[in-house]
Amino acid sequence: MKLQEYRSKEILDRHGVPLLAGRTATTPEEARAAAEEIGGPVVVKAQVLVGGRGKAGGVKLASDPDEAEQKAREIIGLDIKGITVRTVLVAPAAEIAHEYYLGLILDRAAKAITVIASAEGGVEIEETARTNPDAILRLPLHPLIGLQEHQSRRVAFFLGIPADLRKDFGRVMRGLFDAFVQSDADLAEINPLVVTDDGRLLALDAKIVLDDSALPRHPDLEAMRDLNEEEPSEIAAREAGISFIKLDGNIGCMVNGAGLAMTTMDLVKLAGGEPANFLDIGGGAKADKVTAAFRIILDDPNVKAILINIFGGITRGDEVARGIVEARSQLEREVPMVVRIVGTNEAEAKPILAEAQLITADSLDDAAAKAVAAAGGAA
Ligand code: GDP
Ligand code: MN
Repeated sequence: MKLQEYRSKEILDRHGVPLLAGRTATTPEEARAAAEEIGGPVVVKAQVLVGGRGKAGGVKLASDPDEAEQKAREIIGLDIKGITVRTVLVAPAAEIAHEYYLGLILDRAAKAITVIASAEGGVEIEETARTNPDAILRLPLHPLIGLQEHQSRRVAFFLGIPADLRKDFGRVMRGLFDAFVQSDADLAEINPLVVTDDGRLLALDAKIVLDDSALPRHPDLEAMRDLNEEEPSEIAAREAGISFIKLDGNIGCMVNGAGLAMTTMDLVKLAGGEPANFLDIGGGAKADKVTAAFRIILDDPNVKAILINIFGGITRGDEVARGIVEARSQLEREVPMVVRIVGTNEAEAKPILAEAQLITADSLDDAAAKAVAAAGGAA
């Protein structure tokens, strides 16, 4: 789950990272009031979960409340990479002497939380990685000891942080690290981290991405979720306890188990089709969950057929078959359904499916080919 800049800053602020917090506004008038309260020049920033807001016109400086209101009027409602801006952050403006990039990622290859740093801040790190990879430092941290002071110093030297700010930089590194670990993040980045004209170190932009699987441990962070920027179908799936990711194809997939769901998608592609989604219904799925899954899949108008692939372990095949038949009778939209059920009680499942006139298949290859044909051929 990605957190908006102002939320990410709240977390970093709690861990002692120096920054200019500011206030959010959803109308130009509110932005004006925020600027009045702050006093002096401000920066007005679109709060959307995409990078490159600056280039897209979503970050603007304003010298007084009048101008802040004007800039907010320009930014609120603006479309940035397909997302409409609803909220802006109004924060004290900083006079920038230098911009740095400082981030922490969970590097699965290194099996360690890893520092990514570059003195070429302000631009996206992927861009620097392409054009000037030598300008980036990657420093894995010890999985048990965590961040050590000598590592903070090494990063400070690599970046060329002015000597009198190295202590402050150590505080930034420590705060970023603590925020990362304590919130179970996958990514925490400050871009840019700046040195100001008057010699202060400040986090001007922040982005934290949380590990979804750890969210149950952090109800306070879960509450920071921005539903405006999520697919409605993915929200419905989460509420039903179903793992779901929407894709662009026309064959809906309903599968139990994440690995089996990925295999199913691969075989749909191999048969010349395109999956419309990834969906893992989880173990022991009953009719109500199957119904919820059907609704979520069929909510996508591109879906022309559904491939159901269930492996019965603890889940009994005949129960699943009955669940499918029952769930289907409650649907408003009808599309061909290809069902493959193997494992426990697979023989008992067959007559139930046959009676309901569902298309059945014995192998997954066969099921994928039938689903592609039922959807009207290759997408
Ligand atoms: P992003 O484009 O989505 O990454 O948004 P940022 O918050 O990083 O802003 C983009 C750029 O705007 C920064 O790299 C800065 O150059 C500039 N910027 C942001 N805040 C300020 C500020 O307070 N003062 C000044 N002078 N520039 C700012
Ligand atoms: Mn940025």
